Amino acid sequence: MDQIKAPIFHIIHGSFVDGYGIRTTVFLKGCPLKCVWCCNPEGQQFHPELKVTFGKCNACGNCVPVCPTKAITLSQDAGKVNLDVDRQLCTNCFKCIDVCYTGAMDKFGELYTVDELFDVLKKDEQFYRSSGGGVTIGGGEATCYPEFVLALIKKCKENYIHTAVDTCGYVTSPLGIKVLEEADLLLYDIKGIDPVAHKEHTGVSNQPILENIKRLDAIGKPMFIRVPVIPGYTDSEETLEAIASLLGSLKSVERVDIMAVHEFGKVKYEQLGMEYKLNVQAIPPERQEKIKAMFEAHGLKTQLGG
Ligand code: SF4
Ligand code: SF4
Repeated sequence: MDQIKAPIFHIIHGSFVDGYGIRTTVFLKGCPLKCVWCCNPEGQQFHPELKVTFGKCNACGNCVPVCPTKAITLSQDAGKVNLDVDRQLCTNCFKCIDVCYTGAMDKFGELYTVDELFDVLKKDEQFYRSSGGGVTIGGGEATCYPEFVLALIKKCKENYIHTAVDTCGYVTSPLGIKVLEEADLLLYDIKGIDPVAHKEHTGVSNQPILENIKRLDAIGKPMFIRVPVIPGYTDSEETLEAIASLLGSLKSVERVDIMAVHEFGKVKYEQLGMEYKLNVQAIPPERQEKIKAMFEAHGLKTQLGG
């Protein structure tokens, strides 16, 4: 079991926002949703991907001849050398990374076994113990790797380390559901109530998400709910009131985090050769406070950010 591997694209040590106390948060690569506002686009695909930081390129040309598919070109424009990578041709073989000494060519995603990952997580154990924290497993979508995550949760439990799973809730396999049941705490996203709008904005129906949250609530699973507030997508009064009303009817919701839109992930779209489609303004602080009050009116402990 401990030889199963999963792609990890990021590990954050010392997080205060992914559950109780000080936590180490692991991001597994691959997600069934493709949210328009996704701030971790490197977590969408299930395989390691080439990461190109154009600003680091010194136009040495080392990478051009080693690329087996001729995906890389350097062209001159008004005396300036421009790097280009044709993502249709790139096979993510990563040969260019070996010859790029500036770090312009890199990758998102490294494969870990459960034992290798646990060795990394265990180094922060003293912080978990002193703060009531633990390990948070997110992504992407952690439940897409149920055997791996169940083995990791088991190992944490054997070592008395608290576990949280950050999930989009779109979980349809029995093993994926078991992951949600086994975690000590869930960080659960609710991105909308209307099924048509949800499919349009995320690519999937919200039916399993709403069914799962009710089932998890019925077994008393502690949950922090994350509600992204994206202008023009999820921020109508009607949508937020419907979400608040649903959450207010549940008994296992310990906290609601109102997640205002931000553009921290924009640079990663360029690094992946993806188009950044979001074009929205930040939500004014007064509006954020009003939204918080709306959720509190349903008896929900609510905070801005998460
Ligand atoms: S990772 Fe892509 S761009 Fe780099 S050498 Fe391989 S195919 Fe070429
Ligand atoms: S090897 Fe790196 S620095 Fe050199 S041209 Fe390629 S991307 Fe730029």
